[in-house]
Amino acid sequence: MHVVSFDIDGTLVASVGFDAELYAEAVREVLGVEIDTDWSRYENVTDSGILEEILDKHSSPDQRDRLAQEVHASFVGRTERYAAENPGFIREVPGALALVEALRKSPQVRVCLATGGWAETATLKLRAIGLEPSALSMATGSDASRRTDIMRLAESRATQGLKATRRTYFGDGVWDKRAAGELGYDFVAVGNGVDHDVVFSDLQDADAILSQLGV
Ligand SMILES: [Mg+2]
Repeated sequence: MHVVSFDIDGTLVASVGFDAELYAEAVREVLGVEIDTDWSRYENVTDSGILEEILDKHSSPDQRDRLAQEVHASFVGRTERYAAENPGFIREVPGALALVEALRKSPQVRVCLATGGWAETATLKLRAIGLEPSALSMATGSDASRRTDIMRLAESRATQGLKATRRTYFGDGVWDKRAAGELGYDFVAVGNGVDHDVVFSDLQDADAILSQLGV
C-alpha cells in the first residue's frame, strides 16, 4: 500500500497570499503585535505551532489559553469573511482535484491530507475548491502543532492499521520537505518554494506525477 499524503495550502489550494495576511491581522487584533510572516523562521510551521511560539513571547501563562482561543476565532472568522467576500479567490492549484481523484481510484493507494492549518479553515478551503473533506482521511493543525505528528495521524487514519509499503508527501514549503525527511517519506515539491530534485510547478501533469509515484 502506498500512502500519498498532501499538504493543503500552496499544495492543493492556492491560498498562500491571503493566508499570511489574515493570520497577521488576527494576531494584531488580539495581541497588538506585528509578527514575522516568513514562516520558515518558526520551529513548527502550523497554525497552532506558530501561535505557540508567538504566545511564548507575548503572553503570560494565565492569559495564554484565552488569547490562543481569541486568535484562533479571529483567524477563522477573517478567513470565512474573506472567502464570502471574494468568491473565486480560493482556487485549486491547477490539476489538484483531478490528481486526487485519480489517486483515490487506484486500489494500491491511500490518499490523505496532512495540513498545518486549523480544521475549520482547512475544511472551508477544501470545500471552496470542490473537495469534500469528510470523504478524505485528514489531520490538521487542530490535532497537533508539530507537522510530523499531523502527518503520522493522517497516515494512521488512512491506513486503519494496515502497513504502508511506501509513503509520499506533497508539499510546497521547506518545512514540508524537512518533515517528510524526518518520517522517511518520499517528498514531491509543488511550486517553486523548495529546492528539491522532484518538483512540479503545479499538479496538471498527472501522467508525469503518477509515473513518479509508480501508480
Ligand atoms: Mg503549504
